[in-house]
Amino acid sequence: MDIKNHLLIGENVKQMKAPSMGGEFKPGAMDTVVIHYTGSPFKSTINTFQNPTVKVSAHLLIGRDGQIIQFVPFNTVAWHAGESSYQGRTGFNQYSIGIEVENSGPLTKSGNIFRTWYGSSMDASDVIEATHRNERSPRYWQTYTEEQIQLVKEICELFVDTYDIKFILGHEEIAPGRKTDPGPAFPLDKLRSLIINYHLDNDDAPPLALKPGKVAANKLNVRLLPDTNAALAGLPLIMGQDVAILEERDGWYKIMTPFEGWILGKYVQV
Ligand SMILES: [Zn+2]
Repeated sequence: MDIKNHLLIGENVKQMKAPSMGGEFKPGAMDTVVIHYTGSPFKSTINTFQNPTVKVSAHLLIGRDGQIIQFVPFNTVAWHAGESSYQGRTGFNQYSIGIEVENSGPLTKSGNIFRTWYGSSMDASDVIEATHRNERSPRYWQTYTEEQIQLVKEICELFVDTYDIKFILGHEEIAPGRKTDPGPAFPLDKLRSLIINYHLDNDDAPPLALKPGKVAANKLNVRLLPDTNAALAGLPLIMGQDVAILEERDGWYKIMTPFEGWILGKYVQV
């Protein structure tokens, strides 16, 4: 795949028109990729993005079989983020490329049957039970296909190469409480660490973060300041979770994954 004139070029990539989009990004404004799940099947997502009365769109849609559709050029604002904020900025449509990945999100279980919110049944082999980063107890979620995860990674690498991307975020991180996509079935923290590593291997690319690390404690508190008495920045991190370390101070690491805060360095494997 390649990007030419803000369009994705590749074997499985199609361009379609979306009636709902903004103007061009302000110079230097676009620095973020936002990952979503569609919460609906491929075809109904296409219909939604082509319906002028709905007023939503994303730059890319990635189907479960690896089909990719681009609706909005990468230099143009798409309408995917809605009300959103992260690290002091709001309205992420103005700063981000949106990737929608075909996935139904949370599922309900009755007997041995898993169902999407729109009533389709789901094979148990396509389901995981996991706790969302913004929630406290586990639920059932549809898994993503290997192909989808690989394509998101390749496309994010292309974006980092082509544009000045500094953040890869989930919709759930810029609109917590309101949104749960891409959810725990998507390896968002891992992807972020991989892309950051990739980025650091490119000498001409500006550093995104100091280094990736992994939580090596069952529960690790994230605090607003590097001090054990400081207020918590959010829910604790769990064993094995990936973090991107931005700064080190007196045995503490400032991290940006999954939200900004300070964690004790001795509980992180770097
Ligand atoms: Zn979303």
